[in-house]
Amino acid sequence: MAIVERSEPEKEITLGISACLAGQKVRYNGDHKRSGFVANSLTRFFHLKPVCPEVEIGLGVPREPIRLVGDAEGDYRVVGSDHPDIDVTDKLADFGRETAKNLERDISGYILMQKSPSCGMDRVKVYHQNGHPLGRSEPGMFARTLMETSPLLPVEEEGRLHDPVLRDNFFARVFAWHRWQQEMRDEPTYAGLVAYHSAYKYLIMAHSPQNYRKLGQMVSIGKKKPVEELAEEYISLFMETLRSKANRKSHTNVLLHLLGYMKKDLSDESKQTLLEIIEQYRTGMIPLIVPVTMLSHFLNIHGSQYVKDQVYLKPYPEELGLRNTL
Ligand code: SF4
Repeated sequence: MAIVERSEPEKEITLGISACLAGQKVRYNGDHKRSGFVANSLTRFFHLKPVCPEVEIGLGVPREPIRLVGDAEGDYRVVGSDHPDIDVTDKLADFGRETAKNLERDISGYILMQKSPSCGMDRVKVYHQNGHPLGRSEPGMFARTLMETSPLLPVEEEGRLHDPVLRDNFFARVFAWHRWQQEMRDEPTYAGLVAYHSAYKYLIMAHSPQNYRKLGQMVSIGKKKPVEELAEEYISLFMETLRSKANRKSHTNVLLHLLGYMKKDLSDESKQTLLEIIEQYRTGMIPLIVPVTMLSHFLNIHGSQYVKDQVYLKPYPEELGLRNTL
């Protein structure tokens, strides 16, 4: 039997990642936190740039564990769990800012290790000085300044990427941000912005019908503003929009809109079949990939270039398989 070799996709995008997730033995105890999802799926599609902030600021391996220690007012620092006189707050914060600036042009997303006082994106336990949990949580110090310095960079924790909705959301943002970096960031033009917005219209609609209107208005009246200012305002609201989660109701709405582009061209039978498939998706019987594949097939035959170019139909490579579980 002939063996069909799996062709490797071209990797265009680089993601920053906590080095322990990439399998490097950099944890305080000399261990790693290798992620099967990263090793088995992501390495096929992305270049990875592993970074361990604790090693980079000069803490060795193995090293004393650290944790967040704070007060009820909301302030917190990163100190040694056994020796609170070891305080690496400022070094980790500075390194987060530096990393954001140094990698700004190279990476299009960042995957962080959850619960870490350095890398945790959120929900890292804060302790009282006496060692008892304070009952609140914060981002790790490196992650915090990384996200503050690059607020538009798509960032997610590896643990949350096991949730299909969050995974789809993160990778849709990564590819959208990468395209912006390529086409618009350095030399924005009004024509470029219109083209970008046109391609993303239905993806925006799936994430927020309200912001779909706001972004459309922003572009249509935008010529009165300097294009740099307009582009900055646009991408800020655009990335915020993609951060909100799409759901079956909003996807169904978009699927029906796309079907509407072919109402004069489809036979009654094909229209009925598509409507039934969309309904099966809406009620949770089948995943999103099914109606999208069927619609794409008919749009390729009957659709205008505008609708065929909608990123919604393929926000990331199909081989990633993310819509099979949505
Ligand atoms: S969570 Fe971050 S700081 Fe901790 S070992 Fe992993 S990469 Fe290093």
